[in-house]
Amino acid sequence: MPFVYDFEHRHRRPPMEMKDLLGGKGANLAEMTSVLKLPVPHGFTISTDACRAYLSGGPGHWPHGLSEEISRARARLEKKMSKRLGDPVDPLLVSVRSGAKFSMPGMMDTVLNLGLNDESVVGLAKQTDDERFAYDSYRRFVSMYGRIVIGIPGEEFDSLLEEAKERSSASSDADVPTSELRALVEEFKQIVRRHTGKDFPQDPGAQLRGAVEAVFSSWNGTRAIAYREHEGIPHDLGTAVNVQAMVFGNRDDQSGTGVGFTRDPATGAKGEYGDFLVNAQGEDVVAGIRNTEPLSAMKRKFPAIHKQLLGIFARLERHYRDMCDTEFTIEQGKLWMLQTRVGKRTGQAALRMAVDMTKDRSIRLSRSEAVQRVTGEHLDQVLHPQFATSGHSVLTKGLGASPGAAVGRAYFTADEAAAAAEGGERVILVRTETSPEDVHGMLASQGILTARGGLVSHAAVVARGWGKPAVVGADKVRISGKSFDVGTTKVSEGDWISIDGTRGEVVLGQMALTEAEPPAELKIVVGWADVIRKGRLGVRANADNGPDASNARRMGAEGIGLCRTEHMFIAEDRLPIVRRMILADTPEEESHALEELRVAQRADFIEIFEAMDGLPVTVRLLDPPLHEFLPDTSELALKEATSGLTREEQALFAAAKHWHEFNPMLGTRGVRLGVLKPGLYAMQVRALMEAAVERVKAGGRPIVEIMIPLTVTREELALARRWTEDAIAETLGSAVGVSRRGAGKLDVLIGTMIETPRAALRAGEIAQEADFFSFGTNDLTQMTFGFSRDDVEGRMMSTYLEKGLLEHNPFEIVDEAGVGELVRLGVERGRAARPSLKVGVCGEHGGDPESIRFFAEVGLDYVSCSPYRVPIARLSAAQAILALGEAARPSRRPSKRAAGGAAKKRAAGAAKKRAGGAAKKRPAGARRR
Ligand code: PEP
Ligand code: MG
Repeated sequence: MPFVYDFEHRHRRPPMEMKDLLGGKGANLAEMTSVLKLPVPHGFTISTDACRAYLSGGPGHWPHGLSEEISRARARLEKKMSKRLGDPVDPLLVSVRSGAKFSMPGMMDTVLNLGLNDESVVGLAKQTDDERFAYDSYRRFVSMYGRIVIGIPGEEFDSLLEEAKERSSASSDADVPTSELRALVEEFKQIVRRHTGKDFPQDPGAQLRGAVEAVFSSWNGTRAIAYREHEGIPHDLGTAVNVQAMVFGNRDDQSGTGVGFTRDPATGAKGEYGDFLVNAQGEDVVAGIRNTEPLSAMKRKFPAIHKQLLGIFARLERHYRDMCDTEFTIEQGKLWMLQTRVGKRTGQAALRMAVDMTKDRSIRLSRSEAVQRVTGEHLDQVLHPQFATSGHSVLTKGLGASPGAAVGRAYFTADEAAAAAEGGERVILVRTETSPEDVHGMLASQGILTARGGLVSHAAVVARGWGKPAVVGADKVRISGKSFDVGTTKVSEGDWISIDGTRGEVVLGQMALTEAEPPAELKIVVGWADVIRKGRLGVRANADNGPDASNARRMGAEGIGLCRTEHMFIAEDRLPIVRRMILADTPEEESHALEELRVAQRADFIEIFEAMDGLPVTVRLLDPPLHEFLPDTSELALKEATSGLTREEQALFAAAKHWHEFNPMLGTRGVRLGVLKPGLYAMQVRALMEAAVERVKAGGRPIVEIMIPLTVTREELALARRWTEDAIAETLGSAVGVSRRGAGKLDVLIGTMIETPRAALRAGEIAQEADFFSFGTNDLTQMTFGFSRDDVEGRMMSTYLEKGLLEHNPFEIVDEAGVGELVRLGVERGRAARPSLKVGVCGEHGGDPESIRFFAEVGLDYVSCSPYRVPIARLSAAQAILALGEAARPSRRPSKRAAGGAAKKRAAGAAKKRAGGAAKKRPAGARRR
């Protein structure tokens, strides 16, 4: 395979599909030249193969045969242009630019005006009849070459230019006289000599080789690596290099340059959009040195060219079937297209264009294509406020845990934040980490910033559930009392700060925000997505109360995939009851407290069933370690040593010490808690079933799924299932006013979360006791990696990502190779044992587009995520289904819901079983404590 291709080379496939080989820029230049026959300055592309060959051979390794190919391409170019590089009479100048498969704006190097030397500069001056232009081009070339190819610090050149400006009293670069420019060229060449011990290369062949090598090497420059890491671009792609004849927009008033979009990239409105400058070079437009004019102004100055440009725009849109962005130059009355590509756009524009293009006769986008034109990031932009401007300085960064931006005054405790918000202030709650006790402060705040914790920490999960911006794990934030420091900057209570929960940025002061304004097209596109994924991949929400459930339904959720019942326990009026239950000395005291909780929970469940009427609601029985409901032992120890404890506090302190565990996430939580306190789960099931019966009586249609958390063995689940079925039978049996038939209509499933590697591996056995599985990928990730989810993200994740030890944060994007393998196995083994097994996921990955693609591939029935991510999940699920294609449709039997009748039958059978051997199998710990 050759290394070098002319732009007009006839490739076997459309060049725009060959970005792997030609890079994005090279592929589009070839498409414009060889397919569209647009006026593009001639040139050639050195392929990414050449770059990879160069980089793989170690520094200085020059691929065999590349020099000869470049020489031949150069000769062809010179022939087409009827000019030669370095010619003392009429020289050709070329640009040498990088161009990787994925756009990496400004991250790699470019050399312009290559081919100038001491002789050709004279020829250029004569040909253009513009000596100043020639020497200005030469001094730009020498400094650019010195900086990029030789590696001389740019300041050395810049400071001499500044001195020349002062000497000649020039207010801008454009005013520096020719004599000074000539002198600068000489001084710049001396700098090169000083650094290299050699003269500035005069031979254009040597210049070209140096520039190509520099562009290849810039692939591994610090900036480029950091950018690729951020954008998730693989490091082994390499860049192509484009060598192109230079055209000049700064020759005279019949020249100019501009950037143009075929539609407005900010709003999506039809019609051309862009900036334009007369007598200027491309950098002048981009750098904002001069005030540009809108593209429409060209109509007056260059009517014929304006018309030609609009004609090109129309052809580009027809050809690419999308909005394009272009760079163009007019050189002495002739239009040249320098670049085109499918343009970047805002979320609003993406949605509008996707819908408009389905109606556009020249584009005829299908609905499936339209759905694929919009990304999760686009939806984030329209669903949440954002910083209105860019270019701000960032005080520090953490993890972007809940998207959107917020501005408020910093407060450091939940009580103070709530009080300030009550007084009408906008507040950002700043905590080292949050706990259930902080929820009132979190609720009152515009946004949340924590110094510790990861994407599944309390702050992150709660904020996402409410759609409230949050930055977590900002480990440079050191909080002490009523202020925090980042390095030498101090932020005190009441100071304004702004946070961007999408990018994880913390900014001092009040940033201006854009409104979250979902355009009408959002509903249309997501509606199309629903049609595509119908019957293939459902989308549910994680919601814990009535308002969240209603919100989730508004967002399009098709049920609740996870209701974390512990969140019902932390309300101010519930916590004391929970504590009474934990502190109970006698079974009577415990049942009394449980009874109070049952009444409270029943009311909560009624609200949720009402909001989700006719849709499944998965309720997880209590999961977290009990000490989470008790006060912090260190705070109580301090109080004991200083002001002393009240009797109640003493009891709480004793209980907190009793329940203290070294690794609570691996301790007494989930079903283990149920085993130690079986009355607890029975109470929750009773509350749930009573709520369901209530709804049936009111004419509603509750669909109940009871979920046991953290199961690791079949026996555990069998035990929990028995309690659950007993409680169901008990409640349905005593349901006054609901006939058994009526109650029999109740749909009830009993299933489990799969959150540990063992559970995934033994899914076949566990499925014998489960009607459904829900993968808890937060815990499954934590336990598979052995990464404490609250600790590692803030402290070590960024280092791991920087060093390439992990490709992604596995708490954000599911780790397909490890955790994914367990999910795949779990699904296969579970369904082999019980073909009707319904399988979903309710870890945070359920709202991540890349993870959703994987979940679709392994054949899950639904994903469940925070309410505010539901639209993104609906879109991503459809995209995943489209990517899978019909051929890859996972074969599975339709899932049959175990009807209430079946649940009752099992409940009746359970009593019988208990009388037999099953009771003997009950683990020793299954006694009431
Ligand atoms: C999980 O582990 O993925 C899960 C959803 O449960 P939690 O985050 O509440 O532990
Ligand atoms: Mg879990």
